[in-house]
Amino acid sequence: MIDYQGKVAIITGSTRGIGHEIAANLARLGAKIVISSRNPEDCQRVQEEFRSQGFTCLGVAADVSSVADCKALSAAAIQEFGPVDVLVNNAGITKDNLIMRMKEDQWDDVMNINLKSVFNMSQALLRNFLKLKGGHIINITSIVGQTGNAGQANYAASKAGIIGFTKSLAKEIGSRGITVNAVAPGYIATDMTEAITDDAKEKLFAQIPLGRIGESSDVANLVAFLGSEQAGYITGQVFNVDGGLVMQG
Ligand code: NDP
Repeated sequence: MIDYQGKVAIITGSTRGIGHEIAANLARLGAKIVISSRNPEDCQRVQEEFRSQGFTCLGVAADVSSVADCKALSAAAIQEFGPVDVLVNNAGITKDNLIMRMKEDQWDDVMNINLKSVFNMSQALLRNFLKLKGGHIINITSIVGQTGNAGQANYAASKAGIIGFTKSLAKEIGSRGITVNAVAPGYIATDMTEAITDDAKEKLFAQIPLGRIGESSDVANLVAFLGSEQAGYITGQVFNVDGGLVMQG
């Protein structure tokens, strides 16, 4: 049985979508959760939502592309609940465009929010994990970081970067008992994928061996395992949650 009693988890980008479900799932398993996004009202609302379900939850607004915000988020979590056992770097955005038309800010925003954020949060909590002599970092990458996607060079580069970062950090801090893994979702039903047209969805389903778009809970279940003691001998790995789609890429 996966048990998070007494454990503390920070989940970035957890006011909606995959991050919200990861947070809810960890809380159901007994974790004290710190939820976050850029929007203070959303953080407050989701904090109340989770508390009303009996979960122990703190909401802290932070922009993960900012070093200062990541330090403040980490400090607030430790002050409220004590040492952090699990960090889930989930916050991410898309700003799609063909390379020919891509603006500098589309590149920079995606790299800063998707990739630099993972460095920011991991570094902000490194001392915490070293003191703990354990802990788990789980980075949400994407199948697109493995296969590439026309119109998403910025997103694909940021997600491929997360994979390189994950493996490097796993090697750096493995001797301290800290695990670092990445989860690569395929197409999961959230606000991020809502814009895909029905026609494009039909074509997509045809390529997915399991024949359906994924749910946030499909990702959350794996994250809960990777953040648990049961996954203590697994590090530096990338796990796909994509209905088998990566096999077609
Ligand atoms: P959503 O757009 O539904 O949610 C994204 C969350 O991240 C929101 O809470 C958002 O809140 C937050 N966020 C965005 N930018 C920042 C920022 N700068 N600082 C802090 N928080 C931020 O996305 P999904 O749930 O679909 O995606 C979650 C993760 O999964 C992302 O990393 C995404 O790349 C990845 N992924 C998703 C897939 C999918 O099919 N949905 C497939 C593969 C990977 P706010 O904007 O208010 O700050």
